[in-house]
Amino acid sequence: TMQVFMPLNFLGFVYREMRSAMANIENLFNLMDQAPKVVDAPAAAELKVTNGEIVLRNLNFAYHPERPILREINVTIGAGQKVAVVGSSGAGKSTLMKLLLRFYDPTSGTIEIDGQHIHDVTQQSLRCAIAVVPQDTVLFNDTLYNNIHYGRPDAPDADVERAIDLAHLRDFISGLPKGPDTLVGERGLKLSGGEKQRVAIARAILKGSPILLFDEATSSLDSQSEQAILAAMRSLSANHTSVIIAHRLSTIVDADTILVLDKGELVEQGTHTQLLNQQGRYAELWRAQQREQA
Ligand code: ADP
Ligand code: MG
Repeated sequence: TMQVFMPLNFLGFVYREMRSAMANIENLFNLMDQAPKVVDAPAAAELKVTNGEIVLRNLNFAYHPERPILREINVTIGAGQKVAVVGSSGAGKSTLMKLLLRFYDPTSGTIEIDGQHIHDVTQQSLRCAIAVVPQDTVLFNDTLYNNIHYGRPDAPDADVERAIDLAHLRDFISGLPKGPDTLVGERGLKLSGGEKQRVAIARAILKGSPILLFDEATSSLDSQSEQAILAAMRSLSANHTSVIIAHRLSTIVDADTILVLDKGELVEQGTHTQLLNQQGRYAELWRAQQREQA
């Protein structure tokens, strides 16, 4: 029976893996307008993440040559740091994430993770090392439990339960008529933006990647939902290098470093306090958001 059972089991695994990969990628980036596929270098090695340090050197990028999107970005994201990327819409924040995942190759310059050029490693190993929490999470027409399990399809139940707790989904799930067996997705229960984002966080916790990319939801969340997401993010980013695209600056005041992008240029970097004192672009964005909330 082994010969028959194993390949089937493996196929099931591949299928779930694909669905899981799609779930993450689909919404962060519109697959429809993807550029020509990047390819693995001939003899590409497996990425080995030891500390999770990310270094961007003289990074330039354009979707179309005549229109530069990112210009001469130089930055070091230290191992285990929580780094926020802020800037107005169109500044290039999501593009930076796409480059980290190597959906595109830079026009010039390099991205290194623990000293390895991401251009020289397999895309598979790169994307295994990075968990993505997209802005708007795709839920499958399946149970809530299975939707979380997609993060790592071979994870034991105990790990899934732990992810549910760490993502602050326990109370929400307990309140559902069928609990974790509730059907969600288009044909099931519709989740709010904040609940979906916590499902994505649970998946990412389960995936256990050393590096985390988080694209914060833009839609306004009620403060209870926001607090739950913040708590879930803290569980996730502990001991991980995390890069967070932040729309609401109030959520990243505790970041180790805040990178301020303006029209594709890195114009400022520092802590919240340092940047406020600098009275520059960040301080301007901060004041604008304070006014909105008032
Ligand atoms: P942000 O996430 O900061 O709002 P993006 O990185 O999404 O900004 O976009 C930066 C710029 O790149 C914008 O002007 C946007 O229109 C452009 N852009 C984004 N994706 C593509 C694409 N696939 N093809 C061409 N231009 C794009
Ligand atoms: Mg964006």
